[in-house]
Amino acid sequence: MKEPFVTYEKLQEIVAKYPTPFYLYDEKGIRENAKAVKEAFAWNKGFREYFAVKATPNPFLINILKEYGCGCDCSSMTELMMSDALGFSGEEIMFSSNDTPAEEFAFADKIGATINLDDFTHIDFLEKTIGKIPETISCRFNPGGVFKISNSIMDNPGDAKYGFTKEQLFEGFKILKEKGAKRFGIHAFLASNTVTNDYYPTLAKTLFETVVELKEATGCDIRFINLSGGVGIPYTPDQKPNDIRAIGEGVRKVYEEVLVPAGLGDVAIYTEMGRFMMGPYGCLVTKAIHEKHTYKEYIGVDACAVNLMRPAMYGAYHHITVMGKDNSVCDHKYDITGSLCENNDKFAIDRMLPKIDMGDLLVIHDTGAHGYSMGYNYNGKLKSAEILLKEDGSFELIRRAETPKDYFATFDCFDILKNMKDPK
Ligand SMILES: *Cc1c(COP(=O)(O)O)cnc(C)c1O
Repeated sequence: MKEPFVTYEKLQEIVAKYPTPFYLYDEKGIRENAKAVKEAFAWNKGFREYFAVKATPNPFLINILKEYGCGCDCSSMTELMMSDALGFSGEEIMFSSNDTPAEEFAFADKIGATINLDDFTHIDFLEKTIGKIPETISCRFNPGGVFKISNSIMDNPGDAKYGFTKEQLFEGFKILKEKGAKRFGIHAFLASNTVTNDYYPTLAKTLFETVVELKEATGCDIRFINLSGGVGIPYTPDQKPNDIRAIGEGVRKVYEEVLVPAGLGDVAIYTEMGRFMMGPYGCLVTKAIHEKHTYKEYIGVDACAVNLMRPAMYGAYHHITVMGKDNSVCDHKYDITGSLCENNDKFAIDRMLPKIDMGDLLVIHDTGAHGYSMGYNYNGKLKSAEILLKEDGSFELIRRAETPKDYFATFDCFDILKNMKDPK
């Protein structure tokens, strides 16, 4: 069974101070997991987890990861700006973007971030933009086809917009070397949200073998191999969580089989996990405000897809706990809906839950990554607050809720704000 990381009593305390909906994060869980990741790869001298900032771009949370030696993986200007402002050095910042605007390459170079090129044509584009090729450079590899573990298809890289083909990778490394690059890395992201301990080791084998070939063919000095993200979490109660120690150990085995005999025993392993670092350690807290009995039974809550888009966007499952009703039987079938004028604004469809009464608090699990950050402002709905539940049981606001003023702020080229009534 999935249990919330917060007790009902504690949640009532928090709700008394901060109105729902809000995101709640679990400092203890974040710390324990970050430590386990660090230990799982401690066998590799240069190991670094570059946290995928897009998953949970909150400075307070990123600062916790920083204590465990994590860097930042960025994909946009604002993520670069945040990482730089948080005091990460250039080498602690990875810039794994795609379809990259020139000014983002320029800024990444200015702060000394490692640039991970998504495409062969970006070699030229980058050189024209910053007037040189950086001494440290990385390329994203896409081997095409489907990505399989044993006989099951995990994902379809051949259909994905990312990365260099194998030919482009070999050609690209040669060109980059001629243009002055000295230290090389490769990167690949071939399957998302994998709930198996075999994803990283299988990916690592592909990348390690490619690196051995690349080294032979180009003579480039390959310093790091970036396994990127894709390590998943169990969203449904029946899934078995990944074991990061087994994953680290699996990668170590392949490293010793493939890289060490090829004289590449000092290559650093990098990761760019987002979901695995934060997903289970955040939840969306919302309150039941309406019940509707038509052709189905609906519970309307005060959060909507603006706060959490994954169910509407991917049909993603998020487990829901009705707080204070752990001992009740799940004998009611509900659609749990938000208020958007969009019929897909449902956090759950035909979900068996205990009887829900108005005012009940619902915890929507596993929203710590790609949750808040994916939100938008449709229907003029505002984004919620983020709160950190600390190890000592106290709690702290780590992002306030949006106000109408924030929503209208980009109209500051007009005089519209002065005519607006305060709804309070
Ligand atoms: C999104 C992303 C990640 C993180 O992915 P998770 O699924 O959260 O692990 C890492 N690297 C890149 C380049 C990404 O786009």
